[in-house]
Amino acid sequence: MFERILLAVDGSEHGYHAARVAADLARAMKSEELRIVVSYDRIPPYLGEPNLQNVINARVIAAQTVLDKALEAVGDVPAEIHTEWLEGDPAESIIDVATTRNSSVIVMGSRGLGALKGLVLGSTSQKVVSHAPCPVLIVR
Ligand code: ATP
Ligand code: MG
Repeated sequence: MFERILLAVDGSEHGYHAARVAADLARAMKSEELRIVVSYDRIPPYLGEPNLQNVINARVIAAQTVLDKALEAVGDVPAEIHTEWLEGDPAESIIDVATTRNSSVIVMGSRGLGALKGLVLGSTSQKVVSHAPCPVLIVR
C-alpha cells in the first residue's frame, strides 16, 4: 500500500510539514517512490527576450530552493526520490502527475502560501481532494 507517494509543496511551512509526514509514511509503508513537485503559473511566451530568459532563470532557482527545502524536511527515506517542477494551475498539474505516474496517494498541506487565514482548506487542496485519481492525505 502507498507504494508511490506524491508530495506537493509550495514553499509554505504547511508544505514542509506535509513533507515530514510524507517521509514518515514512506518509511512506515516502505514505499518504492516519493515524488516531490512544485507548480508555477505558465510563463507567457510573449514576454520576449531577454525578459523570458530572466523569468525562466528566476523560476529555476525558486523551484530548486523549494525542492531542496522539501528534500531536507523529508530526510532519509528508503524510497527512490524524484523532484520536478510543473507549469500550469497547481491543482490541475498535481492531478495530472498523480494520474500519469499512477500515484498511490497525494500528500499535501491543508493551507499554503495564500493570505486568507480563516479558511480551513486552501483552494489547491480543495480542488485536488475533489478531483484526485487516488487517496489524498491533507496534513494540518
Ligand atoms: P489559496 O491558494 O487558495 O489562497 P492556500 O495557499 O492557503 O490557499 P493551498 O494553495 O490550497 O492553500 O495550499 C495547500 C497545499 O497545497 C500546500 O500546503 C501544498 O501542499 C499544496 N500546494 C499549493 N500550491 C501548490 C503549488 N503551486 N505547487 C505544489 N503544491 C502546492
Ligand atoms: Mg495557494
